[in-house]
Order: sequence, then structure tokens, then C-alpha cells
Amino acid sequence: MVVYLAQDVAWMLVLGVMQCLHVRLWHDQLRASQVATGLLFGVVCVLGMTEPYLPLPGIAVDGGSVVMGILGLFGGVLPSAVALLVVSGYHIWLGSPHAVISLAVLFGSVGLGLLYRYAVARGRARTNVPSLLVFGLVLQLGRIGFLALSPIEPHALLTISMALILVFAPATLLLAMVLQEGQRRDALDVALRESESRFRTLIKDIPGVSVQAYAPDGTTRYWNKASERLYGFTAEEAIGRNLRDLIIPAPMREGVRQAMEHMFASREAIPAGELVLQHKDGSRVPVFSSHAFVQAPGRPPEMFCVDIDLSARYRAEAELSIAATAFDAQESVLVTDPEQRILRVNKAFTQSLGYSDAEALGKPLSLLKSERDTDVYFSTLQRALRRTGKWAGEIWSRRKNGEVFPQWVNINAVYDVEGEVSYFVATLSDITLRKAAEDQIRQLAFFDPLTELPNRRLLMDRLQRALTSSERNKRTGALLFIDLDNFKTLNDTRGHDQGDQLLRQAAQRLSGCIRDCDTVARLGGDEFLVVLENLDSNAVAAAADVRAVGEKIVAALNQPYQLGDFDFNSTASVGVALYSGLSLSIDELLKQADLAMYQAKAAGRNGLRFFDPAMQAVVNARAALEADLRLAIAQQRFELHYQPQVDAHGRVIGAEALLRWPHPVRGMVSPASFIPLAEDTGHILPLGRWVLETACKQLVVWAQEPLLESLVLAVNVSARQFREASFVDGVLALLAATGANPRRLKLELTESMLIDNLEEMVEKMTALQAQGIGLSLDDFGTGYSSLSYLKRLPLDQLKIDQSFVRDVLTDPSDAAIARTVVALAHNLGLGVMAEGVETLAQKEFLARCGCHAYQGYLFSRALPAGQFAEFVRNTEVK
Ligand code: C2E
Ligand code: MG
Ligand code: MG
Repeated sequence: MVVYLAQDVAWMLVLGVMQCLHVRLWHDQLRASQVATGLLFGVVCVLGMTEPYLPLPGIAVDGGSVVMGILGLFGGVLPSAVALLVVSGYHIWLGSPHAVISLAVLFGSVGLGLLYRYAVARGRARTNVPSLLVFGLVLQLGRIGFLALSPIEPHALLTISMALILVFAPATLLLAMVLQEGQRRDALDVALRESESRFRTLIKDIPGVSVQAYAPDGTTRYWNKASERLYGFTAEEAIGRNLRDLIIPAPMREGVRQAMEHMFASREAIPAGELVLQHKDGSRVPVFSSHAFVQAPGRPPEMFCVDIDLSARYRAEAELSIAATAFDAQESVLVTDPEQRILRVNKAFTQSLGYSDAEALGKPLSLLKSERDTDVYFSTLQRALRRTGKWAGEIWSRRKNGEVFPQWVNINAVYDVEGEVSYFVATLSDITLRKAAEDQIRQLAFFDPLTELPNRRLLMDRLQRALTSSERNKRTGALLFIDLDNFKTLNDTRGHDQGDQLLRQAAQRLSGCIRDCDTVARLGGDEFLVVLENLDSNAVAAAADVRAVGEKIVAALNQPYQLGDFDFNSTASVGVALYSGLSLSIDELLKQADLAMYQAKAAGRNGLRFFDPAMQAVVNARAALEADLRLAIAQQRFELHYQPQVDAHGRVIGAEALLRWPHPVRGMVSPASFIPLAEDTGHILPLGRWVLETACKQLVVWAQEPLLESLVLAVNVSARQFREASFVDGVLALLAATGANPRRLKLELTESMLIDNLEEMVEKMTALQAQGIGLSLDDFGTGYSSLSYLKRLPLDQLKIDQSFVRDVLTDPSDAAIARTVVALAHNLGLGVMAEGVETLAQKEFLARCGCHAYQGYLFSRALPAGQFAEFVRNTEVK
């Protein structure tokens, strides 16, 4: 029996070893391995039973219970079921009458094993030696219990029991230990393999760590994915090639070779550090490189390199250093918080603005602002910042020392991840020089450097605008071409220096001759151009104005020039072309003015010529008349004639003083032709004074003759005269000086003079009236005849204009006007006089209308003082 048992134990050990081996085979397939285990155990049980020790037929005393119990414990349900199937099948095939007991033993053993397994899994039991020994004992005791149910002799049962306990209980322990060791080793093996594969995958796929392995001669053995990305070589390209040809820049190659040689000789790793290696495309790759000397048993040594890409850090550092350099660059930079309080300023800022860091920090952005920029401008800036987060433009900044200077400012908001403004960054550049340069460029581009007058280019521009504006406002303008007559001689004889001085002085004089809205430009050499704008829309009147300015220019340029220590006399020739709207091009206009200038030169220089001959004629005539007028005034060549004014009965009640100019050549010149000229030229003022004075003197003469003493003398006053601030005082002074009675003086005003400044006129008229001076509105009905102002004027009389009187009998509308004027005068409580009455019928018509004062050829023309007195005496006699 002992032999049998020993044989069984041997089977068990074989089983244990086989189990350990086959488990390795079925490593990755759990189910298959379990089935295989079940089969193995089942087959071993069967084999163990082939030559069993049978105390009774069908009752084998073998290792089955041990094997099945252990299988329950180590294999679990599935292998146990498979093994039971095999063994039970065999038992049933044997067909022994006691097979039930054997089967019960087998099932019981499996059950115990599974129970134990369950307890171990729950932590209720352990698989140490004593426990296993107890397990082995329990198994055998259970079996003995079953055997006791069989009809085995008690003596045999005792022997068998002893053998079972002594052999199979330790055998259980032994088998369990073999299997346990196998399982432990297997688990270790699996863990190792898993760990290795995990690390292999990790190293292969880890994205940010480049791992390479090299043989002692530098041949690449391993190249992970990160290395492919970092250095640009695929593993296929890299493996087999020498490290030095792959990623080591040429100057480092020898050093690397030596370092590796030393490393493999000494087995000491090259120290880790930052290196700049090389990409496949030749670019630089900064890395932190660590090295390890690795020698697996039985394999040649290798050097492992673990490189971490530092390009991002290098870039960030570079950017930081760029930012730092930029921050401390030439331009002033400041950073504010979202509330625009200054957080940081750079060196350029403190240097430029004069505020130290401490003085600037915490201050509002408006620290930069000077009062040269309005608050409105600053609030526009703020609005733009709020809306778009940026603003660029010019501001006038104030330095700490108070100096104000222009800056170009660029402000940008910096946003946080939530999209809120976290900072504002402003760069400021001092543009004083740029502005000065711009001014200088503009000056050079548009102004003549010698005279500082606009140059040809600017003039063309202004002229174009002048033409356009003339087109729009229908006003006439003029272009004057001015050439200095003696410039060339001066330049040739005295040199350019003196020539330049002359030009500068001429330029100054020209500028003094024009209004602000006009332009003087230097065309080059000694040629100047003047553009006169906004002249009268009537070309003749405009020409008169131009002539006045032109002559002023000629006169100004005629004055001696102080050139160093000598006086130089020069003259100028001026050509004039008038323009109206865009009918002429600039070129045509220039040509006309130029041509006119040559005509002026041809006509003997020192003069003015119009391009248009008709205009020239008009201007000539006016000029001649004016010259005569000036002379006549100076020589008091005027006479005052008196046209009688009569009442309804033909009695002389007064006279109108009418100016007469007996011209030695022209004959008697009508006031209608010279009064407007005298008004334009200002001669009206001395002339008007002479008239008033003569009239007053005449009144004084009449005052001495009873027949004439009550006559009222009407004197015409021109608008220009009346507008003089000193007019009222002048009249009163004359009355006082001559002793004339103000009540005998009447002033004839025209409507045109009243529209300008009604208040002032009313004031003057009231002052005159207060002295007893009569006021008559001349030529009534020809002007504006506004009833509203008529009501406000302190008048004494309306004079119906002769144009209505002339056709009063033939033209119903003139008749209506005459009638209306009379009614109006009556309504306003004013006197009314009709002038230009030539026929009795006219007089009678007017009388029927209610007008009872007349003046006209029907009664008399204007007469010299003597004849007038005679006329009065004669009418009285009648
Ligand atoms: P006025 O003040 O309307 O003068 C009346 C004009 O009508 C005068 O012309 C006079 O000679 C003319 N006249 C008078 N009766 C008749 C008539 O029955 N038929 C016609 N056809 N004409 C008649 P005169 O003297 O040639 O003066 C013209 C204008 O010159 C005056 O118009 C007046 O506005 C202005 N004037 C004359 N003398 C002076 C003066 O001393 N100072 C100023 N500022 N203007 C004056
Ligand atoms: Mg008059
Ligand atoms: Mg009149």
C-alpha cells in the first residue's frame, strides 16, 4: 500500500510541475488554461487509479482526493468541474459497486477545496504551511469518514487511515506548495512582462521625451516617436546611422565622440545638461539631455539619451527678452490697469516726460494730457478705447517741467481669458522733430525759401480754388502779374545778394498791399503774382477795385529800396486779367496776365495794364476822371447850384443844392457821372464837406435878405458820407462855424444808406433832427421802400422820385405809385415833395393826389446862387 501511495505522491508532484508549465503556455487565454488544468488534473487522477490499491472493489485508496481538493483550492470552479467530469466518467465506466463512495470522496474533496478557496478570497483563511497541513488532514479525515461508511474491515480501515494521514496530508501540503510557488512565479512573470511592455510603450509613445539608444561607436539602436518629432528623422532613417551624423552639429562631433568613448570606458554617464543639437532640416534644437549607461546581461553596452525639447522655453525666453528690450527701447511705454492708472513706465518714459517711476505710478493716464488738447478730444479717445480696445493718434503732452510737446500715442488693451481688459499698454513717441520736419517739408514744397511767399505750386492750388469759389458766389476776381522793371540791372551790377534783398523787400511790400483773403506768390526770378478774390460781381466795378490795388502795388514798389548802404530805385509793371467763374483755365488766365504785363512794359513800364482792351478803356477813363476829380477838389473847381422848390401857389419855399463841375475840357460834368466815382474813391468826403459848407454859407447869405431868409436849403448826402462816424458832429460844427440856422437846412438821404445799420442811422438822424435839421428821403420808391423801416425813421419829408413823376400821366402804375406815396406820407404825418416836375399837367395831377410841393424844370433848373436869388425875387414880384 505504501508503494501505491508513494507512487501517487510522485504522480502528484509530476502533476504540480506540469501544471506550472502548462499555465505558462496558456498565458493569455484564461478559459482554455482553466479547461486544460481541469483536464490535466482529471487525467492524472485517472492515471493514478490505473493501478490502484483497492481494499474493496471500486474503493481506491489513491491521491484523487488530494488532487481534487488542491484543484478546488487553486483552480476554482471550472477546472474542478472539468476534472470531476473526467474522473467521475472513469469511475462510472469502471462500474464498481462502491464507486459512489469514491465519487463522494472526490466531490467532497473538491467541495472542501472550493470552500477553502472561498475563505481565502474572503480573507477568512490563509494558505500558509500549517493551514495547508490542516487542509490536507481535513481532506483525509473526510475521506476516512466516507471509507467508514463502506464495508471495510475496521482493522484495514485503521491501517488505511494511518497511511492516508501520514502520506497524503503532507502530500497535500507538498503539492500545494509546488503549485503556490508555480503561481507566485507565474504572477511575477506576468507582472514583469506587463511592466516591461508598459514601459516599452511608454518610452515608445511618450510625446515630450525623446529617447534614443546608441552603441559605443555611436550607431543608433533605438529611436522613439518623440525623437522623430524632435529631430525630424523617422526611426527607419535613424536606426543604424551614427548619432554624430544625425543630430550633432559639426563643431560638437569630436567632443561627443570623446565623451562617449570615456563613458563606455569608465561606465560613468555623461552629465546631463542643456545642448543645442541639430534637426534634419539643419535648424537648431535646444534640448535638456540626460544620458544613461545601460548594459543588459549578455548584451553589448548602450548609451541611452533622454532629451527634452527646450525650444518652447527658449522661444519664451527670447520673447521675454525681446519684450524686455522692447519695453526699454527708445519709445516711451507705459502700462495701466483697466481703470487707466499707471502701473509701469519704462526708462524712455521717465527720460522723456521727466516723471520718475514713483511719480508716475498710480497716476491716471491723463497725466500725459496738456490743455492744448480739449477734453472732448480726450473723451473721444476714451470712447474708442471702450469700443475697440485701441486708439492711435496725436496728443499734446506736458512734461513735468511744464513743456508741451506733440506725441504719437498708440494704446492697446490687453485682455484676460474672460475677455475683460486687464491692462492698457501705451507707446508714446515724441514727434516734435517729425512735425518740425513736416512743417519744413511743407514750407519747402509750397513756399519760396527766399521771400517765404507761396510758390508757384501753392499759387496754382489757391487760384484753382479761387476760380471755383468765383463760380459759386458769382464774384469777380483778378490775377495780377507783377514784374520788377529794374531787377536784372541790379542783379547784374550789384550781385545776387543785393538782388535777393530787393526781392525780399518787394515781397514784403506786396504782402502789405493786399487783404488777408488775397494771395501774393513768387513765381520765380523777379516775377510775382497776386490773386484778388471776392471783388464786385460787376466787372467794371471790380476793374476799378483792381486798378486801385494795382496802383497801390505800383506805388509801393516804386518806393526806394534800402539795399545795404545805398538806396535803389525800382519800378514795377503789372498785368491784370479778370476772371469770373471757371470760364478761363488757370493757364489761360496766367497767359492773359502775363501778356498784359508785357503791354504794361511796352507802354513804358511802371504801370498797370488790363488784358481786356474794353476794360482797359473803362479803367483809363475812370482813371482820368478820377485824376481830374482829385485836382478839381484840390483846386475847389466846383460850383453849387440851387434848384428852386415851390408850393402849390408857385411860391419858392426852398431849394436843392446840386453840385456842378465846370470842366475845362469836358464842359459841365454831371454829378450823376462823378458822384459814384467820388464815392468809390473816397473823394466824396472832402467834396461833401465842401458842399455842406457852401450850403451853410449860402444860408447865412440868404438870412440877410428878408425875401430869402425863410428858404430851406436841401443838401444831398451820400451814403458813404452819412456812414462816417463823425458826420453828425461835422454838420453841427459847420453850422456853428458858419452861423447858419439849422432849421433852414434839410438833408436829403437815400434809401440805400438806411438798410445797412438801421439802429445807427436812426440814432444819427434823431441827433440831427433834435437840432432842427430837416430830413428828406430822396428818390423815394426806387429803393427798398420798406414800410417797416419807414415807420421807424425820424423823417420830415418824402421825395417822389422823378422817374414816377415823368410818366405819371401816361403810366397808370406810376400814377398809382405817386398817389400811394402821397397817401403814405400823409398817413405817417410826413411832408411830400415831387421832383422832376416838367409840365403843368404833372403838377396838377400831383396836386389832385394831395402833393403840394414841387421841384422841376417846370419852375426852374438849378441856378447859380445869384440867378437863384434873382429868380426868387422875380417870382415874389409876380
Ligand atoms: P437828385 O438828388 O435826385 O437830384 C435831382 C436831379 O434831378 C438833379 O440832377 C436835377 O438837376 C434833376 N432835375 C431836377 N428837375 C428836373 C426835371 O424837371 N427834369 C429832369 N429830367 N431832371 C430834373 P443833377 O443835378 O444832375 O444831380 C443828379 C444827382 O446827383 C442828384 O440826384 C443827387 O443824387 C446827386 N447830387 C447832386 N449834387 C450832389 C451833392 O452835392 N452831393 C451829393 N451827395 N449828391 C449830389
Ligand atoms: Mg436830391
Ligand atoms: Mg432825387
